[in-house]
Amino acid sequence: MDVRVSDVKKWAGREEVQELDDAWPSLAQERVDFPLLDSAHIEVKVRNTGGALIVEFSGVANVEAQCSRCLEEFVLPISFRMTEEFREEPGGDDPTLDYYRFVGDKIELDRFIADAVGVNVPLAPICREDCMGLCAQCGANLNVSACTCRPTLDERWAVLERLAHEPD
Ligand SMILES: [Zn+2]
Ligand SMILES: [Zn+2]
Repeated sequence: MDVRVSDVKKWAGREEVQELDDAWPSLAQERVDFPLLDSAHIEVKVRNTGGALIVEFSGVANVEAQCSRCLEEFVLPISFRMTEEFREEPGGDDPTLDYYRFVGDKIELDRFIADAVGVNVPLAPICREDCMGLCAQCGANLNVSACTCRPTLDERWAVLERLAHEPD
């Protein structure tokens, strides 16, 4: 997905907002462990500060995630936002610079979108804050119905153990 900068790069102080609607970049799918749903809708703002272009983009990615507690699949919205600085000059990536280089009328955003979405994916997604998860003994989904299992002796000792070590 590219953002067009042919106009905005001509005048210092100019600012442009563009909406990008397209399939998710395959790089983004590679960075996220869950399938990205729908297509991407990304709002991009480009500002010419004179010498540099500040590119700010944001959006929401819906992914088909699996709850780490109850193992049910659910749609997880991931909000992302990123701001990067670009300068038009020849040369490739240089990690010693605090900006990125581009040449021409477009800036390719795929890898930046991939990073922005990727860093916001939780390691252990949960379908809702109070998801009760599965019973460790019978495997019942406790969101759906309670089971009749009782805590084992070991678990009761574990609770006492935790209480004993809790800070006041
Ligand atoms: Zn859950
Ligand atoms: Zn149970």
